[in-house]
This record gives sequence, structure tokens and C-alpha cells, in this order.
Amino acid sequence: MSFSSLGLSDEIVRAVTARGYTTPTPIQMQAIPAVMSGGDLLAGAQTGTGKTAGFTLPLLQRLSDKSVKGSSTGRPPIRALILTPTRELAAQVESSVCEYGKYLKLNSMVMFGGVNIKSQIQQLKSRVDILVATPGRLLDHVQQGTLDLSQIEILVLDEADRMLDMGFIRDIRRILALLPKQRQNLLFFATFSDEIKALAAGLLNRPMMIEVARRNLTSENVTQLVYLVDRERKRDLLVHLIKNITGFRCWFSPALSMALIVWLSN
Ligand code: AMP
Repeated sequence: MSFSSLGLSDEIVRAVTARGYTTPTPIQMQAIPAVMSGGDLLAGAQTGTGKTAGFTLPLLQRLSDKSVKGSSTGRPPIRALILTPTRELAAQVESSVCEYGKYLKLNSMVMFGGVNIKSQIQQLKSRVDILVATPGRLLDHVQQGTLDLSQIEILVLDEADRMLDMGFIRDIRRILALLPKQRQNLLFFATFSDEIKALAAGLLNRPMMIEVARRNLTSENVTQLVYLVDRERKRDLLVHLIKNITGFRCWFSPALSMALIVWLSN
């Protein structure tokens, strides 16, 4: 399967090809068509699965399909909001947005605390189509009246479980209240919990649900070997493995006193 067969425009395919991607990852194969269909999405995927491109690419596609002009007096509105739990993730996601959208006429901005708010206020005066933000600083701007979220078409909660763990639920609820009712919601989490279930129930409208396997549980990435060896020769076997194989983990089974189980990452 190719990126263009998922319905992404030439400009987006060109950008991912320049990044060195040839095939969509499993989460991208599922998330891209789901987001492009316009419905809500509940997606279980950890970092490392390609989840960022999974929501960024179709988000860019949807925004560029329908261009919006500003009123004769003002600049165009902010159309997509991506919330992340940390500054680092916000910066990372926004740099992906820039990179994947480099052949499109869409502008993005990253907003997080711990840095001067004035330069952010200045940046908000120019065109911003996609805003990537952490909840706290975003609410600071709302309080100062420097941010208008009333035209958001797509909301993404990235690593929503981590946001809940970090105590952002009240901030998230305050932010949701500032958004228009009619919008597309995408909720990404790594680990499902009752809290995620409750958030999804209140936020999502008949969502499509997708989940890709946790990386560290996929047997595809790991080869398991069992050596049967008597107690006396276990040490020799271990020395042999250390000398000859890199990147393995092993476990001497106390119950199976004769077995050494080895996991090899492919
Ligand atoms: P993420 O899970 O979004 O943090 O992405 C993990 C890593 O996978 C990042 O370094 C991406 O650049 C990379 N990546 C994302 N999609 C693809 C793809 N289709 N092919 C190869 N690498 C990818």
C-alpha cells in the first residue's frame, strides 16, 4: 500500500517521500482513511508506531481540501488544534506538521509555557491554521484574550492518557467548552483506562476505533529461542551468547532448571 493510494495529495506524498517514508505504518493505514472520512476517531497507539503522521497527514489533507479566507478586516481563523501533554511533544508534533505540510499553504504554530508569552502573542497576529499547544499556556492566552478557538474544525488530543495522568482533565474540559460544537475529534492514547473511556464518551461522536499492538508485545519484532542445557553448562552457554550475539535478553527458568530462554530483537 502506498501513501497516494490512501487519497493523500501529491504535495503531501512528496513531503513524506522526501522524509524517506515509502509505506504507511499499520496505524497510518487505518487512521488516514478514518480521519479523511470526517468522523471522530479513538485510536490506541504508542510512540514509535508512526501515530503523529497518522493524524497529521489526513488533517493537512482535510484543511487543504477546503481553503478558508479571512474576513476583509481580519486574518483567517485557527482551524485545527492539537493538544499534547508536554512541551517536548508539542515541539515534535509541530515540526512534523511543518515538514509534512511544507508544500501546502498552511501555517502552524507551537505554543507552550516556560517561554516568553509576548512573542507568542505576536505570532498569533499573523496567520495560524494549525495550533499545537500544551493546555496550560493555551489557557493563559485565552485568559488574556489573545486566542480565538471559535472556528476550530479539527481537535486532536495526542497522548490523552498522559494528559489525564498529569492532571490536565479540568484544563481539557475548559478548552473543550471554548470550541464550536460542530467539529471532528481525534483522541489518541497509549493505554486504555476507565478515565480514557469516560473522556471519549463525553467527547466523541460515534467514533471509529482503531488500535495497533504495543510495540513491545509484538512477536513479529522478537524471536524467542529456548535452549535446553543442563545446570552445569548454563554459565558456558551464557558466555557463548554474550560473545556471539548482540541485543538479546535472557532468563534462566528456575522452574525449568534446564532451560535458558532468549529473546532476540530483530
Ligand atoms: P511517532 O510514533 O509518530 O512518534 O513516529 C515514530 C517514528 O517513525 C518517527 O521517527 C517517524 O519519523 C517515523 N515514521 C513515521 N511514519 C513512518 C513511515 N511510514 N515509514 C517510516 N518511518 C515512519
